[in-house]
Amino acid sequence: MHFPSWMRQLCRGFSGPVGWTAQPAWGSPCRSLGLSSHRRLPEFSSFVARTNTCGELRSSHLGQEVTLCGWIQYRRQNIFLVLRDFHGLVQVVIPQDESAASVKKILCEAPVESVVQVSGTVVARPPGQENPKMPTGEIEIRVKTAELLNSCKKLPFEIKDFVKKTEALRLQYRYLDLRSFQMQYNLRLRSQMVMRMREYLCNLHGFIDIETPTLFKKTPGGAKEFLVPSREPGKFYSLPQSPQQFKQLLMIGGFDRYFQVARCYRDEGSRPDRQPEFTQIDIEMSFVDQTGIQRLIEGLLQYSWPSDKGAVAVPFPSMTFAEALATYGTDKPDTRFGMKIIDISNVFRNTEIGFLQDALRKPQGAVKAICVPEGAKYLKRKDIESIRKFAADHFNQEVLPVFLKTNINWNSPVAELIMEDQRLELIRLMQVQEDDVILLTAGEHQKACSLLGKLRLECADLLETKGVALRDPALFSFLWVVDFPLFLPKEDNPRELESAHHPFTAPHPSDIHLLHTEPAKVRSQHYDLVLNGNEIGGGSIRIHNAELQHYVLATLLKEDVKLLSHLLQALDYGAPPHGGIALGLDRLMCLVTGSPSIRDVIAFPKSFRGHDLMSSAPDCVPPEDLKPYHIQVSWPADSETDKNPLNHHQES
Ligand code: ASP
Repeated sequence: MHFPSWMRQLCRGFSGPVGWTAQPAWGSPCRSLGLSSHRRLPEFSSFVARTNTCGELRSSHLGQEVTLCGWIQYRRQNIFLVLRDFHGLVQVVIPQDESAASVKKILCEAPVESVVQVSGTVVARPPGQENPKMPTGEIEIRVKTAELLNSCKKLPFEIKDFVKKTEALRLQYRYLDLRSFQMQYNLRLRSQMVMRMREYLCNLHGFIDIETPTLFKKTPGGAKEFLVPSREPGKFYSLPQSPQQFKQLLMIGGFDRYFQVARCYRDEGSRPDRQPEFTQIDIEMSFVDQTGIQRLIEGLLQYSWPSDKGAVAVPFPSMTFAEALATYGTDKPDTRFGMKIIDISNVFRNTEIGFLQDALRKPQGAVKAICVPEGAKYLKRKDIESIRKFAADHFNQEVLPVFLKTNINWNSPVAELIMEDQRLELIRLMQVQEDDVILLTAGEHQKACSLLGKLRLECADLLETKGVALRDPALFSFLWVVDFPLFLPKEDNPRELESAHHPFTAPHPSDIHLLHTEPAKVRSQHYDLVLNGNEIGGGSIRIHNAELQHYVLATLLKEDVKLLSHLLQALDYGAPPHGGIALGLDRLMCLVTGSPSIRDVIAFPKSFRGHDLMSSAPDCVPPEDLKPYHIQVSWPADSETDKNPLNHHQES
C-alpha cells in the first residue's frame, strides 16, 4: 500500500490515537491533548460489533482474535482485500481453501466500497511482504468469518483523494465525498479543535456555553438576514446573523462569561469564502477591556492549535487600521511577506510628470509605490498591461511600472522625467535592487493604497505561479488590527454613515468628544483578528449606556430604534460594561487545514450559489403549504430555470 506524501503529512496533523500513521500527531495524547495527565485515550470500539479499528492493529496484536467492520478499499487477485475505516487500512487475507468457500465468495464478490464485517486472527506478514509505508504494514488478518453488511452499487466517482472530481459532483454525493481521507481529516481536526476550545473556555476560564435562538426578528445594522414566515399574517422571523444582541443581553442577565459554537445566517449572495450559514466561536465577557479579550483569544488559539502546525507565539502583533491601510492597502494584511506600500510623495514634490503633479495638488493626494522583488525577471509585458488595465477598470487609477535593469538603468514610460536625485531617493526609500520593479500610482491616499494593496497580492500570486517562494504555506501569521473608525461612509450614499463593525460598538474613549461634532473621525474599540490576510475574527467593547446607544442608533445611523427597544431598555437596568468577539470557525479551519475552500471544512455546505446540491434545497413547495403563512410566490418571468432542480447541479 502506497501512501502519497501529502497523505502522510496530513496524518502527522491528526490528533489523538488515529492510526493512519504510527505516530499520533499531537504527540503523546497525555502531553498534548489533555488538560492533565488524567486524560485517557478515547475508546473507539466500545458498544459496537467490532473489537478493533482497522488502522490500529500492529505487531503487538499478533495472535489476537479480532472483529473488524469497514469498507472494501480494494482487492488484489482475489487473495488480498484492504479494509478501511476512519482509523486506517488493514490487509485481509482471503481464505483459499474449500472449507472457507462461502467466506471467499463474500469477500471476492462484494463490490469496492461495500461494508463488511470480518473476524479472524492477527498474523505477521510473511518475511519480505511487510509494507513499511502502511502503519498496519507488518500484519494482516487471517479471516475465519465474513459478513456482507451492505453492498455498494456503481460509484459516481472513486473514493480516492487523488482522483479529480468536480466540486458539484462532490457536493451532490457528499456522503461519498465525506469518506475521502481529506474530508475525514478536516472534520475530525475541526471537532478536536472545538473540543480544545471548549476545554479552554469552560474548564480553564469558567465560561458558560449558552444556546441562543435561531428564530429571531429582523433588526437594523449589519448583514442581510434570511426571513422565516410565521403563521401570523405579514409577520416574519429572521435568522440571526450572529447572537450579538443575545450575548449582550446575557451580560445584563449576569452570565458574565458566555460562549457558544453558534450557527449564523447571512443572506449575502455568493462569495468564494462565505457560506449562507456558518459557524462562529462566539464570546462575550463583562468587566473586560480590549486587551483582556485579545489575551483570551491568543490563549484560546494557542491551546487549541494542532501541535504539528507549529507553536502559536503570543501576544500577536498589533497594527492600527490606519497603518494597515497605509502599509498594506487593506484592513486584513497578509504579513507573511513584504512588498509594503511606501509613500513617495516627497520624492516627487517638484516633478514634471503630469499625473503625479495633479495628484499632489489635491487634498489627501499622494504618490505611493510598491517594489516587486525581481519583478523584472518575472513580470512580462502582458502582466504589466493587465495590472494597468485592472487599475484603470477598478480604481480609475494610472499605474506606472519602473523597471530597474542591470547597471541601475531605468526602463519606464517616464524614465527620462525622473531626475537623478529623485532616483537616488527612490532607491533609498524603497530599497530597490537590480531587477526589481516599482509599481507607482498617485491619487487620493486611501484609493491609491487600496489599489496597491490589491496589486501587492496580485503580484505575489503571479510570482508564486512562476516558482518564487513568497508566502510560506506552513507559516501562520496572526495580527490584531485595532483602532478602526467607528463609522464609514455608506457605499451607496457616502454622505450617510454606517457602522464599521456593528452599531453596538463603543467609541474609543479618547474620541468620545467628537461624537457630537465630527462622528466620522471617531475611532472605535473594535478589533479584528487577521490570519495570513484573512479576517478570522472580530469584536468590540460595547456601548453599555442606553442614552449613548440611542444617540448612535437614532441620530448618527438614522436607524429605527423601536426595532431595538428591547436592547435599549435592557441597557437601562444595570448593564455591566462588556465586550466580546467572534471567531469564524469555518475560515479558521480552512486556513489550518490548508483547504482551498471553506466548503472543505463543512460537512454539508451550500454550493457557491447557495444551493444544497445533494437535496436540491432551496426547493419549491406547493401553494397549499404557503397558505398557512399568508404568502404566495410571484414568479419572475424567467423563473423556469429555478423551478428545475437539475439546473442546480450544473454549478461547479
Ligand atoms: N457579532 C459580531 C460579528 O458577528 C462579533 C462581535 O462583535 O462579537 O461580527
